[in-house]
Amino acid sequence: MNLWNKAALLKQLWALLFKQDKLWVRWVHAYYIKRGSIESVTVKSNTSWLLRKILDTRELLRDIGGWEVVSSLQKFSIKRTYKLMQDNFEKVSWRRLTCNNQATPKSKFILWLALLNRLATVDRVSKWNRECSTLCKMCGIQNESVQHLFFDCDYSKSVWSAALQVIGMSPESTAGGELRKAVQKARSKRSKNRLYVMLCTECLYAIWIQRNCKHFKGILLSPIAVVKEVLFKVACNCNENDRHRLLLT
Ligand SMILES: [Zn+2]
Repeated sequence: MNLWNKAALLKQLWALLFKQDKLWVRWVHAYYIKRGSIESVTVKSNTSWLLRKILDTRELLRDIGGWEVVSSLQKFSIKRTYKLMQDNFEKVSWRRLTCNNQATPKSKFILWLALLNRLATVDRVSKWNRECSTLCKMCGIQNESVQHLFFDCDYSKSVWSAALQVIGMSPESTAGGELRKAVQKARSKRSKNRLYVMLCTECLYAIWIQRNCKHFKGILLSPIAVVKEVLFKVACNCNENDRHRLLLT
């Protein structure tokens, strides 16, 4: 967001140079720049905060290589500027799972943390709190990890099985299979695949909520009740066609 903001500010500097038909640009030239130029005008104590921020981007422009690299055919590209400022990060395989997903924002956030293995599951908590038991908060038998809690625990298996049955599918048998499948399906725009991605995301979030409810309040809903809540959320967030498909299945 910080980089995007800088790129957007640079667009305002570009407008000051190349959009002199705009009223605000003419005003800035008349009151601040006068007979000087954008390149040479100095920031004074009476320069407004906004104009100061715009003029500060002159340095950024020098760093990225001038107007030629960020504008063409009299059009400025914020996207191109943003990409120039970014470091070269490797693209993650699950990027579409978080971007091409109509599930609720909260559930997508928990999915994102699960994908990065950043949820406070006890296998992680026990690394800094040695008194913490590493046993799963749901079954109390196996060690808790993202893989166990969301996919291997008996409670989670019941949730997945009941939820996927609704759209005529069965759970994956291999470790991480459900997420792998969701990553593949998130590339597609087909209604059935969209539903699958939403359902997976909401199931994962619901399991996390139930795990916390059991751990902190001692309350646990049955898998069937959880799936009903999940289906309600999916039905509320999907479009008319997908909802129709969900009701049909
Ligand atoms: Zn368990």
